[in-house]
Amino acid sequence: MDVKSLIRSIPNYPKPGIIFRDITTLWQDARGFRRAVDELVWPYAGDRIDKVVGIEARGFILGGAVAHQLSVGFVPVRKKGKLPWQTEQQEYELEYGTDVMEIHQDAIVAGENVLIVDDLLATGGTAEAAVKLIRRMAGEIVGAAFIVELPALGGRERLDTLGIRVRSLCQFE
Ligand code: 5GP
Repeated sequence: MDVKSLIRSIPNYPKPGIIFRDITTLWQDARGFRRAVDELVWPYAGDRIDKVVGIEARGFILGGAVAHQLSVGFVPVRKKGKLPWQTEQQEYELEYGTDVMEIHQDAIVAGENVLIVDDLLATGGTAEAAVKLIRRMAGEIVGAAFIVELPALGGRERLDTLGIRVRSLCQFE
């Protein structure tokens, strides 16, 4: 059993010409979910990590499990208007237009080591917004970890130019 084989590919979702990589089929498999979290976490063994930042919404499922595994705190990065307290805000590009991501102002203490987690890396625009938010709070980013990477969309290179080391468990062309 490998992680990639448990990911379902759905043609023409959410619109014609797009193949959506559906990770719910991995989550619902007990050994698959366990393995995905273990494989994502082991390369960081021995590294100092203080917080896991998970990106809405699928990054919450994975990030919560990763934070528990590492015995560290979990911090959500959410779409605008969802967090109840004072926030830092960062605009990021969507395919059409822009949106805003937020993080609570007291979620990261200056100098804390942070691991970013999301289910999938495509263009890297979403992860870049998280990087900017964390850096504005003077967090140190240890890396960014994803289940799936779509290399054709250049997310790894984009994060590389920001000095972020990317780890992914599988790739789809
Ligand atoms: P990016 O900002 O890197 O272009 O897009 C990544 C974000 O879009 C992630 O938060 C991810 O959850 C979502 N996303 C884009 N395409 C897919 C897909 O095919 N499958 C899943 N599960 N998420 C996707």
